[in-house]
Amino acid sequence: MKLLFLGTGAADYDWRRYGDAGVLGSAAALLEDHVLLDCGPTVCAAMERFGVDFGCVEAVVNTHSHGDHFDVETVKRIAQGRRVDFYGTPQACVRVRAFCRVHPVESGSVFTAGNCRFLTLPANHAVTDLKEETFNYLISCGEKTLLYALDTAWMLTKARRLIGEKKIDGIVWDATMSEPGDWRIFEHSDPEMFGVLRRVLLKTGNITQDTPVYFSHRARTLWPEDPAAQQKIAARYGALLAVDGETVTL
Ligand SMILES: [Zn+2]
Ligand SMILES: [Zn+2]
Repeated sequence: MKLLFLGTGAADYDWRRYGDAGVLGSAAALLEDHVLLDCGPTVCAAMERFGVDFGCVEAVVNTHSHGDHFDVETVKRIAQGRRVDFYGTPQACVRVRAFCRVHPVESGSVFTAGNCRFLTLPANHAVTDLKEETFNYLISCGEKTLLYALDTAWMLTKARRLIGEKKIDGIVWDATMSEPGDWRIFEHSDPEMFGVLRRVLLKTGNITQDTPVYFSHRARTLWPEDPAAQQKIAARYGALLAVDGETVTL
């Protein structure tokens, strides 16, 4: 399973300065060269920067409709003149149905995009309309399974039940904060929260000591500026930093 990180930042970056050193893009990734996970405001620029042709994108899978993950203009530009599949909440689907083949999903939905199987998990996160769901995904391509968990706080019971005993070969986790004690814990995560979760997933056999974990969605104002200091924090919790433009293979 191949994953290209197109952006690994949270919403507090000034994306008018996208491309400047230290400015992380809006959190998004390209899966298996054909499926775009989220479509925030810097995705088109990131694709151009990292040499990805818009025509490669067959499907867009959306986690939720916050502006850093869902930008109608981005979807429109990528889908232009083609039939691109869009998977997301019914509310997000309405906003892009003029230029995509839309597939409304809800937590628990299973669908296939770009030869990968998606299990839709409820995220512990909310948009303005509390009736609109937010998602994480358990994605299986071939033999490998990835937990893509942006944005989320503590894993919800229903998500845990849906995952069950499945083996997870890699995790992309919300690390908006770098330290515990922040008020955003009800919608996002910090490495210490993840550390507790990791210990339990090890015990339940969902992951092993070698399962790679990538901290993404890092907030500019909540992480140290120095990349070495960032690496040190991630390493303390057995994780790696997701890096803009980096391709990882599970
Ligand atoms: Zn976000
Ligand atoms: Zn969000």
